[in-house]
Amino acid sequence: MKIFCIGRNYTDHAKELNNPVPSEPLLFMKPPTALVVNNKPFFYPDFTKDLHYEGEIVLRVCKNGRSVQPEFAHRYYDAVAFGIDFTARDVQDKLKQKGHPWEIAKAFDGSAPLSPWVPLDELPNRQDIHFQLKQNDRVVQDGHTRDLIFSFDTLIVHISRYFTLQKGDLIFTGTPAGVGPVAIGDRLEGWLEGKLLLSCAIK
Ligand code: ZN
Repeated sequence: MKIFCIGRNYTDHAKELNNPVPSEPLLFMKPPTALVVNNKPFFYPDFTKDLHYEGEIVLRVCKNGRSVQPEFAHRYYDAVAFGIDFTARDVQDKLKQKGHPWEIAKAFDGSAPLSPWVPLDELPNRQDIHFQLKQNDRVVQDGHTRDLIFSFDTLIVHISRYFTLQKGDLIFTGTPAGVGPVAIGDRLEGWLEGKLLLSCAIK
């Protein structure tokens, strides 16, 4: 199983980190050992002092394919979940300055808490999914997938040019504005269309 992640896919988030808005999707990956499911706690790693949450909509790939054409892209995913792309921002900033890969800042053990799946058929509007991240009961991120720079279908087309999509692969589709640091003792919650899907205690 592969976990694809997209960086800078909402204009307001790219701007808050002073990054340029990309002309094509910015892609990185996490290994399966990054996943945390069943609302298990997240343990603050010892190699960072600036761990950030990034709340994201995650797609579940339901069909194998490569070089998928745009008109068929919607057939390749069937459910969404709420995911957190935990990022050691201090580590990432150092790597970015040197032009090095991001893996140790983004793909470490436990860096991807994931909620249960919601079938796309159960959503009121699959073109515009509303999601919120709460930190200790305060809304810190409020996103709508209508604001994605690269749509779900565009991501399927782009990723499958380089990597064979396999049933069960995941795509973290990017985070809206409002990312910020977490502290030990915090509780993060992921809400999708007004329903609590993910709860993550920072230990
Ligand atoms: Zn992210």
